[in-house]
This record gives sequence, structure tokens and C-alpha cells, in this order.
Amino acid sequence: MMTTFQPISKTTQHMLLAKLCEDLEDAILILDADLRYVFVNRAHEILIGYSQEFLLGRPLGIYDNEFLPEHELQLLNSAIQNLNENEVYQSSIVMSTRYEQNINCQLMFSKSIIAGDAYYVGIIRDETDVIKQEAQLTQQKDQLNKLNNYNQITGLPNRKVFLAQASQLLNESHQQVVIIRLNIDRYRILISTLGLESTNNLIKQFSDELSALELEQLHCFAHFGGDDFGLLFEFADANFAHNALDLIMQLCECPFLVDGNLLCLHISVGVSYAPCHGNHLKDLMSKAEKALLYAKQQGGDDVYWYRPDLNITTDYSLGFEAELRLGLIKGQFIPYYQPKIELTTGRIIGFEALVRWQHPTKGLLAPTFFIDAIAKYKLSFELFHKMASQIAEQLQHWQKLELPQHICINADAAEFSQPNFFKVIKTLLDTHQISGHRLQIEITESSLMLRHAEVKSQLKAIKELGVCLALDDFGTGYASLSYLQEYPFDFIKIDQSFTSKIVVDSTQKAIVKAILDLAKALNMKAVAEGIETQDQRDILVDIGCNYGQGFWFSHPVTAEKATKMLLDQRAAHQHYEKFLNDSKF
Ligand code: C2E
Ligand code: MG
Ligand code: MG
Repeated sequence: MMTTFQPISKTTQHMLLAKLCEDLEDAILILDADLRYVFVNRAHEILIGYSQEFLLGRPLGIYDNEFLPEHELQLLNSAIQNLNENEVYQSSIVMSTRYEQNINCQLMFSKSIIAGDAYYVGIIRDETDVIKQEAQLTQQKDQLNKLNNYNQITGLPNRKVFLAQASQLLNESHQQVVIIRLNIDRYRILISTLGLESTNNLIKQFSDELSALELEQLHCFAHFGGDDFGLLFEFADANFAHNALDLIMQLCECPFLVDGNLLCLHISVGVSYAPCHGNHLKDLMSKAEKALLYAKQQGGDDVYWYRPDLNITTDYSLGFEAELRLGLIKGQFIPYYQPKIELTTGRIIGFEALVRWQHPTKGLLAPTFFIDAIAKYKLSFELFHKMASQIAEQLQHWQKLELPQHICINADAAEFSQPNFFKVIKTLLDTHQISGHRLQIEITESSLMLRHAEVKSQLKAIKELGVCLALDDFGTGYASLSYLQEYPFDFIKIDQSFTSKIVVDSTQKAIVKAILDLAKALNMKAVAEGIETQDQRDILVDIGCNYGQGFWFSHPVTAEKATKMLLDQRAAHQHYEKFLNDSKF
């Protein structure tokens, strides 16, 4: 039952209002006409740090002069001036407290006349939390924007941004718009050897250095993810893109320092441009991609501009994996053999086995068409097993023909990581009754980057079988020297990039000479790869290189052809011996 309504007395009303004022979260201060404190509530005491007792009767000026910084003093003076003119004043300010904390406040002052006396009533609302929340919200929005539009590893714009900018540029530009697609070569192998983190560091460094080139007329440099990048240019003539492309390729000639290791990075690049290759973005993107794929198929480390006659032979669709697996089952992967030559005599001392895919419809394919995919689909060990079995059979066949030459097989990190790598080699040697020294294994420098413990123990065990080990592609940048110290190599294979320049570039010649001296000092043999001319062979002999291989002597050939070469060599030798013997008498 409700009680009868009783109006409250003025005193109760004032007490309630005073309580409300006391409990309010906003700070309240009342100043008299001479700007002296006559009241502050608890919230004010807490916010500013001075008790009411301290402040009462003190003019705002004293407080100002003693404690307020210059900018707050100015703000207060302008507030009071405003109040005298307008009676109400409102502003957002940053106030310092007694504890030298800066707080963001909303300040409201009003002027009241009570019983003929003027008072200024101020309310200060602490907005620090609100502002913090707003800042957090903006930060979250920024992060979301970054997540949506930028690559997390490199911080570069992503594919979405690239496409939007390219599309806008194509609409607006009166010049030629160049689309460049760029991939890091052998990305999968980098990941399997360096690990994901170091590969990402390498990619970040590459993108930072490319950005630092500050290429002219570059509208967008984007990272589509993984090894995939895009660049967007606008030129009066698309041919100006050659300068930018030269600078990018030059950038990759210097090794990158990642986690204490010097690493070389190679890239493949495909280019298309409007209006020559079309005006639609989709068209231009797919044409640049086609050129990129072609660059990769030619072995990478190169730039190709789109042409309608670029003949792409491989597609990396889902069916490709199935084709590879089927090819392995059906024995379509076969070794071709490239002779290794004693340079002074021209004698074949052995062969390097190089895998070829005898594809049922596409013909004979070189490793560049499928070796990355083999690693990607984790088929490396299977390939190795197939190759090693055929090589063991070949060696057994040569043994029967009393041909003593050895065969080198290429192996990758993925193969060494298999625990039964050693067992496979040992079983093959035993079942075919071949001695270990007839087999050599070539390991690329990149294979040695990771899996140190596994690779080391595998190599040691394999060496105990008498198998020789060669460090392939020596000098291509994977901390070559430290590997020579660490692992028990018998051969160094000097990469063909050195051989190709040895005639025209005296620095390259000096480097090769230094490698040869080093090999000698470490009691290792050296084989120069990629000899294509007599001049190259002559210079190599001149600076003390004893062994080599290359197209000048022979391209990789079939097993039958290799056997014939060996038989011919023996016959020629026997003929020569006979001639010598005959001429003695
Ligand atoms: P690699 O082991 O350094 O082999 C040398 C490559 O240079 C071969 O290419 C060979 O055909 C080519 N070559 C030989 N002489 C010359 C020359 O005078 N000039 C030029 N320009 N090139 C020459 P190929 O057969 O395309 O093999 C490429 C790479 O694929 C090999 O480089 C090796 O790293 C890898 N590879 C080949 N077979 C296998 C394999 O069975 N297993 C694995 N894991 N990798 C393999
Ligand atoms: Mg090799
Ligand atoms: Mg090599």
C-alpha cells in the first residue's frame, strides 16, 4: 500500500543534491566571482589530486600559477573570458594532475548568479578511457585493414590491392601500363632446406631491398603470397621497363645475409603490357603469368615478355601430381648420362646421371619441368630410388663389360631426410655386386642448409661403403666454404655460372683458380661444369683444373649411347696401345 505523497523540504532537497554531486563520477568544481574555489566534489579530489580542504578559498590563479602548465593556463584564461561573454563554456582539454599524469577531459563551465553573487560551476569529465577505446578501435580497424590489404610477411600490398590499382590505372592512364609477375625460383626447395622462417626472412629482405630501389614510375609492388610478387608500372613506352627489370635482376646477383648465411636468390619474371597485349586486366595478368611460367620452364633466373608463340608445355594443375605419380610407377623417369672428362687427355672417367621424364605425350622432359613439383609432392625419395636402381643396373652391366667408370647420382635434402636412405644404397650395391667407389653422390649446397645432424650421419655411413661424395653447384652461395670443412667431400663441382664467364671475365677466372687452389689444399678434386667451348676448356686446363663436363664434350645421352662411348674409348685406347707396341718393334 502506497504512503501519501509528502513533498520534501528544501533542506532534504539540498542534501540529496549535495549527495548526488558528491557521488557523481564527473569532477565538479565551483568558483566564486573572484575565481576562488568554494567547492570541489570527491571525484575532483581524486582526479586532480588535491583535497577540498587545500583548495577552498584559494584562487584558481594560485593553483594555476603553481601547478598548471602554460598551455592549460592559457586554456583556463580563455575559458573564463568566454564565460564572461557567453555564460557557458565547453571544451576538450588535456589536464595534468598533481601526479603529472595527463588526462583527456571534457570541460564544461557555466556562470550562475545566486542571491546576486556570481559563481562558476565547472564539470570535468575524464575521457581518457573513451579516447583509449577509440584509439583501440582505430588500431583494430588499421590492423584489419592491414590484414585485408597487406601481406603479413613483407608488409607489401596484396593481390587484391594490386588488382584494384592495376584496374584503376588501366582505366585512367593515357600511357602504357606494364604488368610484371615475379616468382622466386626453387621456392619449395628453399623451404625444405632453409625452413619456413628463414625462407620468409629471405623473402622479406628481398622485398625490402627491391622497395629500396625506389624504381621510377612504379605504381604498386605487391606480394601475392609465398614466392609470388607483382609490379605495376606506367611508362610512355613500355620498353622503359627494361631498366627497372635490369635493376631487379642485378639486385639478385648479390647474396642476401639470412640468419648468418649468405644466400643467393634467383627469380623468374613474366611481363605483359597494355595496350599491346590487351586492355583488360584479366587478359594482361594471364599473359604476364604465361610469360612467367615460360621463364620458369626455361630454367628460371630470367625475364620473358609475353609473346603469342610462347610454348608452355607443362600445367601445374591437380592432374600434374597424378601424372607424376603414374610416371614414377610406370618407369617413365630414366637417367641420361653426361660424361665427365679428364681435361688433359679427353678420357671419360665417369658419368653424371641426369633424370629425364619420358612423357607419353609431351616427349622427353628435362628436370626444370618437374623437379620442383617432385619436391612439392614429396616424391623426391621415390625418384631417387628409381634412379638409383637403374644406375645400379647400369653399373652392373658395365662391370660385366669390364668398363670401370663410375656414375654420379644427384640427391636432394629431402632424400637424405629419409631414414632408410643408407639402406637403399647398401642393398643396391650388395644385390648388384658393385663396389662402393663405382657410385658417387652429388649434393647441392642448398641441401646442406638444414638437417645437419641427419645429413652428416647419413654421409658418414655412406662414405664407409666407399661411395664418393661431391658438392654440386659449388659457389652458388650457400656458405660453401663452411660445408667443405664440415662434410667429407671428395669432389667439388664448380658451378657452370663460373665456367660460362671464364674467358671474358678475369675476375671469374681468378675465382675459379682460387677454388681450384682451395680444393687442392683440402685434398679434394674439382670438376668444372658447363664447358661449352674449347677456349673455356683450355683456360681451365691452364689454371690447373683436371676434370670437367659440358656440351663441348657431350650433351647428356641415353644409356646405350653412353655404353657405346665407353666401348669406343676402350677400342681407341687399345688401338693406340697396339700402335705404340707395334711402333716399338
Ligand atoms: P646439375 O646437377 O648441376 O646438372 C648439370 C646441369 O647442367 C644438367 O641440366 C646438364 O644437362 C646441364 N649442362 C651440362 N653441360 C652443360 C653445358 O655445357 N652448358 C649448359 N648450359 N648446361 C649444361 P639438367 O639435366 O637439366 O639438370 C638440371 C638440374 O636438375 C641438375 O643440375 C640437378 O640439380 C637436377 N637434377 C638432375 N637430375 C636429378 C635427379 O635425378 N635428382 C635430383 N634430385 N636432381 C636432379
Ligand atoms: Mg649435378
Ligand atoms: Mg651442378
